[in-house]
This record gives sequence, structure tokens and C-alpha cells, in this order.
Amino acid sequence: MKIKDYYQQTKPVVSFEFFPPKKEAAIDTIYQTLEELKGIKPDFISVTYGAAGSRADNKTLELASMIKKEYGIEPLHHLSCIANTNEEIQQLLADIKAGGVENVLALRGDLPADSETCSSDFLYAKDLIASIKENTDFSVGAACYPEGHIDQLAGVENIEHLKAKEDAGADFFISQLFFENDVFYRLMEDARNGQVSAPISAGVMPILSRGQVEKMIFMCGTSLPSELIKIIHKYEHSIEDLRKAGLEYSLKQIEDLLDHGVDGVHVYAMNRPVVAKEAMSLLRGS
Ligand code: FAD
Repeated sequence: MKIKDYYQQTKPVVSFEFFPPKKEAAIDTIYQTLEELKGIKPDFISVTYGAAGSRADNKTLELASMIKKEYGIEPLHHLSCIANTNEEIQQLLADIKAGGVENVLALRGDLPADSETCSSDFLYAKDLIASIKENTDFSVGAACYPEGHIDQLAGVENIEHLKAKEDAGADFFISQLFFENDVFYRLMEDARNGQVSAPISAGVMPILSRGQVEKMIFMCGTSLPSELIKIIHKYEHSIEDLRKAGLEYSLKQIEDLLDHGVDGVHVYAMNRPVVAKEAMSLLRGS
């Protein structure tokens, strides 16, 4: 089924993000996580794609296909384009289709330090979106940034870029994680004022450790509210207590998003069943 149709039928659309096991690990290492989630049915599960992902060892596709075949949940295959030629992308798309996956999150990917590994076929995600729409019948999602993309010095999301992705064919958007809901509500308002009408799912990530948060804020430019800084300060030496308090913080965020009637909630579940279960019980009461 196409994910764009879920947004017509359900509100909020509930999704989780998983990542494939590390390169050297077998795909079955994620079985246990999925087994623990049996019975929990988000509308879709998205699977990340490594910046230097390759056709020969596409663990994203393996996991996405497994999610569909074994668990009956719609997968969303992330796909970045900056390091690939058009020919490689078309082959990857053919593989994804053959794997039974009907939905792709079209991304540029982070610019590699070495610009020689950039492809000149796709400069921005909008170019990939247009190509997918022209050549296939995938339902296509794209990324958006409530606090602006990390390369953008001027703060908020550039709505013109978002509109360009929609005009290229993006059916829905998933937001970068944020810890203050107001930044998401502002993005929604700006997007609607800028004639962006596609549904936008709000990205929520429960914190795991001080190190993980530091990495995320420098990688994504996400701001940290003082309430969360105090939680990290209080529990940083007790990982279990920190995770519990971090999850509670995210659940409060989700509750508020529900009150605001958002189109969708995308939980960066980081392959942790407890996160998915708690979020699901709040979102669907199950
Ligand atoms: P784009 O939309 O192309 O934007 C890239 C930059 O160019 C931005 O600064 C934008 O403002 C600017 N820009 C866009 N259009 C124009 C234009 N016409 N003129 C000038 N500037 C322009 N990365 C991975 O490698 N694998 C993943 O699985 C992955 N999953 C993600 C999932 C989500 C929900 C999100 C939010 C991000 C994810 N990323 C992933 C990270 C993403 O690849 C990076 O943030 C990347 O740097 C930008 O990708 P994009 O698709 O947003 O690019």
C-alpha cells in the first residue's frame, strides 16, 4: 500500500524509524526487536539508508522487505542520492520495487567531506523526487527541518525549498527531530502559508544518553530546552533513569502534538522496542 493513502485515511499517521544492523552484522540481529514488537502495528516503519549505501549490500532493502513480508507493516525505504549517479539510482529503485517496497523517502544525504564523491546527477532532494516520480509509481516522502537544515545559517526551514520538493512530487514530509514543539507548530504555519499542502509528520526522538544528545544537536542543529538539559544533568550518571526520564519527556511531547491535531507522529525508535511500545500505547491506546 502507498503511504500517501494512509494520510488520507488516518490521523495521526503513526510511524517508527529503524536502522539496519551495522555492516558486519547479520540482518537477523534485528529479528528480536521486531519479534518483541509483534502485535504493535504502526502505519509504517521507515528504514534508514547509509550515506555510502550500495546496491550490492543494501541492508535497508533487506530489512524493509522483511518488515513487509514477515510483519505485514508498510515499509518506507530511505534513499539518498548525493553519492550516486542517475544510473545507480534507477537500479536501486528497480531493486526496491522488486523487493516489494512501494514507498521511498527521497533524500539528498549529507555532503561528503570529499566533494569528488558527489554525483552531479542529483544536487538536491527535489531532483531525486522528480526522477522517482517520472520513472516509477512509488509514493515519495521527503525531509523537512523545523529549525532549518544544519547547512542553512538563517534559522528556520526555507519554505521555498519545501515547496520545490512538493512541486517535484513529494507526497508527504517527515520532520527532523525537535525537542520543543513550538518549532514544529511554526513550521506547520509557515508551510501552509507558503502553499505547502502535503501532510507533515512530526519527528520525536527519546534521548538515550548525554553523548547521543550532543551528537544529535551538532549533527542536526536542534536546540535543547532547559527542561531537557536539567533532566540530562540530573540523570547523566544513571543511564536507566535518564532513558526513563527521556522517554517520559518524549511522551509529553507526543501528547501535546496529539492535542494540536498533527498529521502524523514519526518516532525515532532507534531499534528499541520499549520506545515503540510506549509511544504506541499513547498514540493508539494499545
Ligand atoms: P535537500 O532538500 O536537497 O536540502 C539540502 C540543503 O540544500 C538544505 O540546506 C536546503 O535548504 C538546501 N537547498 C535545497 N534546495 C535548494 C535549492 N534549490 N537551492 C539552494 N539550496 C537548496 N541521511 C542519510 O544519509 N540517510 C538517511 O536514512 C536519512 N534519513 C533522514 C530522515 C529524515 C526524516 C531527515 C529529516 C533526515 C534524514 N537524513 C538521512 C539526513 C539528510 O540526508 C540530510 O539532512 C541532508 O543533509 C539533507 O537532505 P535533504 O533531503 O533534506 O536535502
